[in-house]
Amino acid sequence: MGVSESAKILKSLDSGQRKPRVVIIGTGLSGIVMGMRLMAEGYDDLILLEQSDQCGGTWHYNQYPGLRCDVPSHYYQYSFEPSATWSHRFCGGAEIREYFERMAKKYQVFDRIRFNTTAKHAEWNGSEWELETGAGDKLVSDILISAAGILVRPKHPDLPGLDTFAGKVVHSARWDHDLELADKKVAIIGCGSTGVQMHKPLAEVCSKVVSFQRTPQWVLPVPNRKYTAFGHKLSAKFPIISKFYYKVFRFAMEQMMGRGIIKDGWSRKMVGKLCQWNLNTVKDPELRRRLTPNYTALCKRLVMSSDFYPVMQMPNVELVTENIDRVEPNGIVTKDGVLHELDVIALATGFHANEYMLPMTMSGEDGYTLDQAWAKGPRGYRTVAMPKFPNFFMVMGPHSPVGNFSLASIAETQSEHIMHFVKMWAERKFDKISPREDATDKFNADMLVDMKDTVWTTGCSSWYLDENGVPGSWPWTATKFRGDLKNPRVQEYLLN
Ligand code: NAP
Repeated sequence: MGVSESAKILKSLDSGQRKPRVVIIGTGLSGIVMGMRLMAEGYDDLILLEQSDQCGGTWHYNQYPGLRCDVPSHYYQYSFEPSATWSHRFCGGAEIREYFERMAKKYQVFDRIRFNTTAKHAEWNGSEWELETGAGDKLVSDILISAAGILVRPKHPDLPGLDTFAGKVVHSARWDHDLELADKKVAIIGCGSTGVQMHKPLAEVCSKVVSFQRTPQWVLPVPNRKYTAFGHKLSAKFPIISKFYYKVFRFAMEQMMGRGIIKDGWSRKMVGKLCQWNLNTVKDPELRRRLTPNYTALCKRLVMSSDFYPVMQMPNVELVTENIDRVEPNGIVTKDGVLHELDVIALATGFHANEYMLPMTMSGEDGYTLDQAWAKGPRGYRTVAMPKFPNFFMVMGPHSPVGNFSLASIAETQSEHIMHFVKMWAERKFDKISPREDATDKFNADMLVDMKDTVWTTGCSSWYLDENGVPGSWPWTATKFRGDLKNPRVQEYLLN
């Protein structure tokens, strides 16, 4: 439904209904779709808080060379807003960010964003949320929604001497566009999805790329197709084409990655074989051996690239598998005592995962704090809510099905689910609502049981796992996720 229809709906909000004041924290793809759904239904008493000066979340913060989404763009968009102009099957970061900003503007969500504003503390006063921003401003809302993201705060490695390096150090999620790279000797530390994507553009301009690899990754080959102007015209005329692609890519990813993650079987084996086939394209047996992981494919988040192995065989690219000992002004010294001389160190060392709305503090019913609720790690009810935090919802909350999926699709499912409760509040079916403790405990206990069958627990380290080795993601199929959230189980909530 377009925002143009929202005025009509607003009129239809008769005196029996009320319009909630809603605050959303975060304006990445999750906060934006939540805002779009609210605006489309006429709930325009809406404020979105964005700590940065731009919306787009991860697609704003990450601007490193080679940034591309490894989920097909036709699936990495909102299903109800297909774009006819995706340039490639796997588009670059700037194009994706532009799509989400365009959506925010189209639904008049953009005008409601308060940029450079952090959410510092939120407190339930018995009937509404009082929120304090980093600047000390106060906001009051009937419904509070966190869409604060999962991989937000960059992780800097604890390398002795890093601050003594005479050249430049840059993290992938805070790229410095003034950085001079031509003819420079550049280190890439990390070979997750980010580090792998960085290799080709750096190897093309730098005199030398030294790739520091602590743990090899399985890499699935995914050729990137450029779409033609004719294809764009056709998609614009027949939006069904784009919707068809959405379903095809969703099916492919859910069957291949989704099934492979949750249980052993043909899909896990097939992904493993494709990765092995890709690895076998490395001609030098010794280089191939050093690039070979010793764990099951999909255990770490699968890396997708068709150019990583060709780049690793370029003459100006060196793979270093010896662990890093320290950094000196001239470069990195590995444990074998070798100094690797460098001009730039690019950190592709990932993020402090699963922090959600932290470090914001929260106080729910009877002063129950977020610290208390998450004393044993982030947990919630079906990824969207928490006991004792009334009228509080999360898009991309704990145990959302993140990984090799489209987060745009997941956020859409969750925002649709949350809308159900927003409408109920507007219809005066309750003043406050929060999930029951026993339903939340059961959900988390069921997850723990089925977590054991997932590939994440088969013996590798990754950002999926918390300090106790428990994965923070959804251990079931994406179909179950959509099914569970399609029809909210109101009986599992406390309503007053
Ligand atoms: P990551 O997957 O956490 O990888 C971090 C890398 O840095 C790993 O290779 C890690 O080695 C290495 N590392 C960390 N600390 C180190 C140290 N002290 N010394 C040496 N190596 C160190 O981070 P990421 O690559 O930024 O990716 C994070 C997630 O972002 C991905 O899993 C994905 O979900 C998302 N992402 C998505 C896309 C996309 O196209 N959709 C693109 C980029 C990122 P170990 O393996 O040994 O720990």
